[in-house]
Amino acid sequence: MSDLGPFPGVEGHDEAQALDAADPLAGEREKFRLPDPDLIYLDGNSLGMLPTAATHTAAEVVEHQWGERLIRSWREGWWDLQLEIGNDIARIIGARPGEVIVSDSTSVNLFKLAVAALRARPGRTAIITDDLNFPSDLYVLDGVAALLEQGHRLEVVASTDGINGPAPEAEAALDDDTALVSLSATCYKSAYTYDVAHMTEAAHAAGALTLWDLSHTAGSVDVDVTAAGVDLAVGCTYKYLNGGPGSPAFLYVRQDLQEQLDNPITAWWAHRVPFAMDLAFEPTETIRRFHTGTMPVVSLAVAGAGIKQVAEVGITAIRHKSVALSEFFIRQTDRHLAPLGFQLASPRDAVRRGSHVSLAHPQAWQIVQAMIEHAAVLPDFREPNVARFGLSPLTTRFMDVHSAIVRIRHLVETGLHEQFGGERAAVT
Ligand SMILES: *Cc1c(COP(=O)(O)O)cnc(C)c1O
Repeated sequence: MSDLGPFPGVEGHDEAQALDAADPLAGEREKFRLPDPDLIYLDGNSLGMLPTAATHTAAEVVEHQWGERLIRSWREGWWDLQLEIGNDIARIIGARPGEVIVSDSTSVNLFKLAVAALRARPGRTAIITDDLNFPSDLYVLDGVAALLEQGHRLEVVASTDGINGPAPEAEAALDDDTALVSLSATCYKSAYTYDVAHMTEAAHAAGALTLWDLSHTAGSVDVDVTAAGVDLAVGCTYKYLNGGPGSPAFLYVRQDLQEQLDNPITAWWAHRVPFAMDLAFEPTETIRRFHTGTMPVVSLAVAGAGIKQVAEVGITAIRHKSVALSEFFIRQTDRHLAPLGFQLASPRDAVRRGSHVSLAHPQAWQIVQAMIEHAAVLPDFREPNVARFGLSPLTTRFMDVHSAIVRIRHLVETGLHEQFGGERAAVT
């Protein structure tokens, strides 16, 4: 596509310009590596962009801390790094210091906390989740149920429209057999966002624990785990927290539960005195209890840079911009893309929506390939027919939204997507 914009005169252009001019977070984008001025990156919900501070951290941790200080660096900061960065994440999700630790991957953390929660509710067998949850979370929960051999069963409550979470139905499924409610606070496909406080309260009324997956929530939605009374949470740091590919995940355990719950992976970093090298395992009382083994220090330190930036900007301002971006995206879709067969596949109500917008189209796969190849727009695709646009409040401009939508309109109008077949790549 030769004309990548800007597109003055096209409806929405002046509005985008005015919104960018009035945006208090506009300066944050300059703190990121911007590889190509034409590129519109709308996949920050899968892999956030590279904060330039992370490049400096990488050099410092590799060349100085590892290269020169060697083993001494464990005492000079590495040992507590996952707690310090955990405390930055705590500010972002409304937790208190000492309630969050960076550890393992989201999947492993989900496993650890699900086992711990089920063991804390003996005799109860139901795990409530929904069919909008990240499928991998269901795999983990199913695996946990099988492993425990206590008759646990996963109750997957169905969404009625594939967009909105089945909140009333999930609530109705709660009873005195419910051990755990485990949901994605913001769903990966539609961006539907639960009323976390309400669902948590309902779960507690039934005597169950809650385990929220905050992967698409942390750094985009102003969740407040303390105010909501959340028991347990996990989430990843490479999406809106811009921590880098495969950066270690976080887990949250409310203070009063920390001593009551047991990490099923009883490894030395959870030991009361790891370097005593006792032959018997004795867990520490603090959040470290949910740790496993030695951290990937380089990834952890690099992730700290992006996380710190989010914590410093503050989730209230971030959420405010996120809502403004997605509202503008939807207005522009209604104007430019709805006539071409695109349908909104995210909630229209901003309160129930996270920071990405999904559009359904019968040829979504072909259109996404054409965006990548011809329009310098990077969204992603989710089966069967959804193009997903991540609006990352620290890096996405309103003009990016405008230009992306006009580029998409041009490529569909000119049929550029028709050259692509239907076969999927291994990674979509
Ligand atoms: C991204 C994501 C994950 C990722 O888990 P990994 O262990 O990092 O692969 C898990 N759950 C949800 C809801 C996600 O969105």
